[in-house]
Amino acid sequence: MSNATRIIHSIPTDPLTGAIAVPIYQTSTFVQEAPGVNKGYDYARTGNPTRAALESIVADLEGGSTGTAFASGLAAIDAVLKLLSEGDEIVAVDDIYGGAYRLFTHIYGKFGISVRYVDTTRPEEVFDAITPKTKLVWIESPTNPTLKVSDIAAIARITKAAGVLLCVDNTFATPVLQQPLALGADIVVHSATKYLGGHSDLIAGVVVTKDPGLGARIRFIQNASGAILGPFDAWLVIRGIETLSCRVRLHCTNALRVAQFLETHPAVAEVFYPGLPSHPNYEVAARQATGFGGIVSFSLKQDSEATAVSFVTGTKLFQLAESLGGVKSLLCHPATMTHKSIPEGQRRAAGIRPSLVRLSVGLEDAGDLIADLDAALARVAAARTTAVANSLADAS
Ligand SMILES: *Cc1c(COP(=O)(O)O)cnc(C)c1O
Repeated sequence: MSNATRIIHSIPTDPLTGAIAVPIYQTSTFVQEAPGVNKGYDYARTGNPTRAALESIVADLEGGSTGTAFASGLAAIDAVLKLLSEGDEIVAVDDIYGGAYRLFTHIYGKFGISVRYVDTTRPEEVFDAITPKTKLVWIESPTNPTLKVSDIAAIARITKAAGVLLCVDNTFATPVLQQPLALGADIVVHSATKYLGGHSDLIAGVVVTKDPGLGARIRFIQNASGAILGPFDAWLVIRGIETLSCRVRLHCTNALRVAQFLETHPAVAEVFYPGLPSHPNYEVAARQATGFGGIVSFSLKQDSEATAVSFVTGTKLFQLAESLGGVKSLLCHPATMTHKSIPEGQRRAAGIRPSLVRLSVGLEDAGDLIADLDAALARVAAARTTAVANSLADAS
C-alpha cells in the first residue's frame, strides 16, 4: 500500500459512534466503576483517547512501537534527555536546533550531563567522540539551518556496536520522506509544530521508540513530568496528518524550484538544499530519503547581517517569522533569530554566516515565490549600489 493511502487510513474511526473524525475528549478525568476498574483511562495526564489516537498514528507512521505526545517539540526532546543520569555524555550534531542546544547546555549541564558536538555527516567523528560514558547520540537530519544530512544507517551501526541509543530529530524530513527507525535508530522525535501539524496553528511534540520497553520508560517520564499535549491540539495534529503526504510532496517540489533559482542568482553566494547535486550530502540524502524537504537556506555574496536583514524584511509572500513547515512560506535570519542562543564562534563553525537566510517554502505557486525572492534580491542590490555611490561621493 502506498504511503499516502496508509497515512490517511491510519487515522481510526471512533469505535463508539463510528464518527469518521477522531473525537476530541475534552475531559480531565474518567469515571470508574470501582477503584481501578475503568475503560482504559483514569486521569487525562496519564492518558486521553484523542492524544492516544495521535500517539498511535505517529508511532505507526514512523514504524515504531510506542508514540508519546508532548506540549512542544522541546518537551519531547526533554523527555528523551530524562532517560539519562548524572555523569552521562551525549554526542550531538554540531548544527543542532538552537532550542535543543539551550536545553542541553543550560538545563542538563547543571545536572552533570555533558555534550560533545561533532560533524555527524562524518560518522567517524561520532565513533571517535563516543566514550564509555556516552549514553546517547543525537542527530538531526537534515539539520537546521544548513541542511546537513547524516548517514543514519552508518551512525546506527556505530551506536549499536557501542551500546548507545541513537535519537533522530526527524522534524525536517517527516516520516513521509525518511524513517529513521527502519535505518537503525532507536528513538525519533518531532516538533509536530512544523510539518505534522502543518498549518502554523499549534505547538506540539512527539517521541516514537522502536523498543516497547524504551517506549514504556518514555511514557513513565511523560506521566511523571506531565508536559502532555492537550486533546484539542492533538486533534489538530491528527487533522494535519491527514494531508501530510500531499503537502510534503508539494513542499519538496516547490523547494527544489526555489533552490535551483537561487543557485543561479548572481547575488547569492551559497545555497543549502540536499536536493541539489552540488550539496555535499546529496548522495546520502538521495539514498536514505524519498525526497529532500521544504527548507532551503542560502547566504548572500554581500555577507553582512545588515544585508540579510534588509532582504528578510523585503519579501512580500515570504513572511518573517520563526518556525517552518506550514502552508504559508516563511523566512528567518538564523543568526539573530532561531540560533541566537548559540555562541557566535560555534555558529560560524556550523556554517551559519551573518547573511544566512532560511526559507520554509510553503504551498503557494512556485513561480510566485520565485518572483517574490527575485524582487527582494533586486531591492538589496539596488540599496547596495546607492550605498556604494554615496560613499564614493563622500570620498571625493
Ligand atoms: C522547532 C524545532 C524543535 C522544537 O520544537 P517546538 O515545537 O518549537 O518546541 C526541535 N527540533 C527542530 C528540528 C525544530 O525545527
